[in-house]
Amino acid sequence: MTTELESVSDFRERARIWLRDNMPPATASSELKADSEEAWDRARQLQRILYDGGFAGICFPSEYGGLGLTPAHQKAFTKESVGYELPLILNVPTLAICAATLVDIGTDEQKRAHLPAVLKGEEVLVQFLSEPNGGSDLAGLTTRAERDGDRWLLNGSKIWSSGAYAADYGLCLARTNWDVPKHRGLTLFLVPVHAPGVTIQRIKQVTGSTEFCQEFFDDVSLPLEAVLGEVDAGWEAASRLLNHERAALGGTSPYISGATPHMGAEAVSLVELAKATGQWEDSRVREDIGEARAMNVVRDQLIAHVTRSIISGALPPSAGSITRLFSAENACLQTDMAVRIAGSIAATQAPGDPVDTEKVGLDYLFRAAWSLAGGSTEMARNVISERVLGMPREYAADRDVPFNQVKRGR
Ligand SMILES: Cc1cc2nc3c(=O)[nH]c(=O)nc-3n(C[C@H](O)[C@H](O)[C@H](O)COP(=O)(O)OP(=O)(O)OC[C@H]3O[C@@H](n4cnc5c(N)ncnc54)[C@H](O)[C@@H]3O)c2cc1C
Repeated sequence: MTTELESVSDFRERARIWLRDNMPPATASSELKADSEEAWDRARQLQRILYDGGFAGICFPSEYGGLGLTPAHQKAFTKESVGYELPLILNVPTLAICAATLVDIGTDEQKRAHLPAVLKGEEVLVQFLSEPNGGSDLAGLTTRAERDGDRWLLNGSKIWSSGAYAADYGLCLARTNWDVPKHRGLTLFLVPVHAPGVTIQRIKQVTGSTEFCQEFFDDVSLPLEAVLGEVDAGWEAASRLLNHERAALGGTSPYISGATPHMGAEAVSLVELAKATGQWEDSRVREDIGEARAMNVVRDQLIAHVTRSIISGALPPSAGSITRLFSAENACLQTDMAVRIAGSIAATQAPGDPVDTEKVGLDYLFRAAWSLAGGSTEMARNVISERVLGMPREYAADRDVPFNQVKRGR
């Protein structure tokens, strides 16, 4: 028997009323930074309210605690949610990347164990992919997992793991076979972040944020059920995860709930900034604002087009790289425009200044991150050329060489 899906307009109306009656309005103080424990506790509480109200996991399968609805339902909810406090920091990577990968490749037991917990705000999931020796050559990683009877022993180090200190599990890609070429000897594991043998260090960025972490694994014992996907087929698992990551960062993911500013750079209104600094009548400033606005309109149209094309199969899932690339370039443009308008006060914010430009300055310091997060923009160009346009693959000297024979720097 098939049950009729609620229409998007009925769902939207129900969401509008429920949000009004149940979710707190967003205030400046509700924008807690992801480097405070308080922010994560608050996000877990808000996620629980969404779950209890029947508005969590809109596109997640209903047998694992979601609503099993369509991206159009999710979009309608997100539109209605503007102005309310939502657990936005759970979107990436927990929901849109890690839980989405679990939906794709988890066993029934793994999905039952983790997806409802994630949707209730009881579990935060993060990604353990990048390593101190580099992140772009993901398949060249050297964190190892060795089979020891009925368990795996994990050793090595991961870095740039967003929010790991506040998480429960990390999706960790490790090398399990050194006798085969690099893409064929990897396995994806679900690693409890606070297991014995895991040491987490927080990294302080130039912005002052300590959200990034580095993890050290020393003989971390994992049960056989910790394997996500198949042993030695971690590259297939990671490819799915990376598609979800590109979709999340490019704005095409159906698993993101609530209006997250695209790539972080629109929080300060350029119009507000121009008015507060007495430049609203300046034609150059108006042109800059027009250009920035046009880029946002193009970005939104591009996201809508690419999303539709991926859903219809006209474009492969790796086409998420197109919007991921555009969003990164646009984030830099928006940030640069804000600094051009603010001028020196972007760097010297002080009490009594006509407008709060602290965020403008901090966004500028962080701007390079948008060309790296979720794979660099250079790698996004490679993905577009090779997997969307079908151009020849980039040469790699180590592609078919057993990994234990590949020369590696120290
Ligand atoms: C905000 C943010 C959040 C992040 N969160 C996480 C996380 O949660 N978990 C995680 O595991 N990682 C995370 N990362 C790390 C991110 O995945 C890496 O920064 C990214 O993959 C690039 O790796 P790298 O920094 O080691 O640069 P490298 O791989 O060392 O590359 C350095 C430069 O060389 C270029 N380059 C490398 N290879 C090529 C090539 N073949 N062709 C052309 N150019 C090339 C790159 O584009 C880059 O500009 C995060 C990064 C940021 C900025």
